[in-house]
Amino acid sequence: MKVNERVKGLIGSSTLAITAKAKELASRGKDVVNFGAGEPDFDTPDVIKKAAIEAIQKGFTKYTPSIGILQLREAIAFKFQKDNQLQYKPSQIAVSCGAKHSLYDIIQVLADEGDEVIIPAPYWVSYPEMVKLAGATSKILATSAEANFKITAKQLAQNISSKTRVLILNSPSNPTGMVYSKSELEAIAAICVKHKIYVISDEIYEKLIYDTKAYPSIAALGKDIFDLTVTVNGVSKAYSMTGWRIGYCGASQEIIDYINKFQDHTTSNPTSISQMAALAALQMPDASINAMRDEFKVRRDLMMSCLNKIPEIFYVPPQGAFYIFCNIAKLGEKSAVSIAEKILNDVNVAVIPGDGFGANNYIRLSFATSTERIQEGIKRIGEWVKKLSKQSVLET
Ligand code: PMP
Ligand code: GLU
Repeated sequence: MKVNERVKGLIGSSTLAITAKAKELASRGKDVVNFGAGEPDFDTPDVIKKAAIEAIQKGFTKYTPSIGILQLREAIAFKFQKDNQLQYKPSQIAVSCGAKHSLYDIIQVLADEGDEVIIPAPYWVSYPEMVKLAGATSKILATSAEANFKITAKQLAQNISSKTRVLILNSPSNPTGMVYSKSELEAIAAICVKHKIYVISDEIYEKLIYDTKAYPSIAALGKDIFDLTVTVNGVSKAYSMTGWRIGYCGASQEIIDYINKFQDHTTSNPTSISQMAALAALQMPDASINAMRDEFKVRRDLMMSCLNKIPEIFYVPPQGAFYIFCNIAKLGEKSAVSIAEKILNDVNVAVIPGDGFGANNYIRLSFATSTERIQEGIKRIGEWVKKLSKQSVLET
């Protein structure tokens, strides 16, 4: 079959594939512990559901402007100002069908054939695929656990060429949970300003940080970097609304105008009902989502203390998001894909192999599940590792 070359080159999403497989096994009655989940397991809060039901009952069920209703864009502009010290006007906001959709739009607008997009690794699985779809090339910058999986300004500067157009930053990071400090971002911003490189700042895990209160948005670090940055966020992770599909971004008027045209001809508006739900979410007091964050912290600490009993597995404690990125090099297997497959088949625990994140000696464990399941799942992995170590001792 003849297909579009860019689509032909796409790699499927490992995060979605493993999550689907784990759900399928569970539906067939298997006692699967799912550490694959890239979504909070909490229910969407009632006030949000009520707003959606009300929207349906009031007949708010028609097309809206492609980049969202003004009321929601005003609430987002207010949120950016309050939480991130970013002064976007409502006209500088585009609402979409999820942060994934916003990211896709932005990459289509900013990256062209022959352009390079810098992506620090480990990265979220979808970035390089979106860059491929725009016909541009990803320039992957490797990081190390010793450097807390963060790039430095120096490393960035060394990798800039005449083709570099965009840097994608994700803090807090999926999959590593790392958070860039203000001074680290200042140094990176200075390089981007110097070379006029756009920054796509994916801040979807913003509300889920654990050990520090200071969460800086790179666009807040000065007028020049503000003009070059597109700040991406959404309601999926902060309000447990992954299925509602609402994301958004703030950017210069010029960029938003292009996104507007792009959405006009691709998706039209995000669901009217979900827009009303997102509006209710953004109007909720912070205290109501802090409880979710506190629970995630308890789970993170528990997962770390359980993992500490498996000396073959190493990790850098995550400061944000809900994943622990585990180094499995000591397990002596050829690939993370085969380890993840074996862990799922042998002990019914779903984990995501690091390959899709650009880190093949790693597996990603999500702690978006109950404390009881965390204990059970890590216990199973621990026993599996013990067996594996015994086998390899016997084989050698
Ligand atoms: N960015 C990152 C880093 C993510 O982990 C996700 C989760 N899917 C997204 C963006 C997209 O989120 P959504 O489309 O659900 O808003
Ligand atoms: N972002 C989540 C994850 O990394 C959800 C799945 C996806 O959209 O890729 O698992």
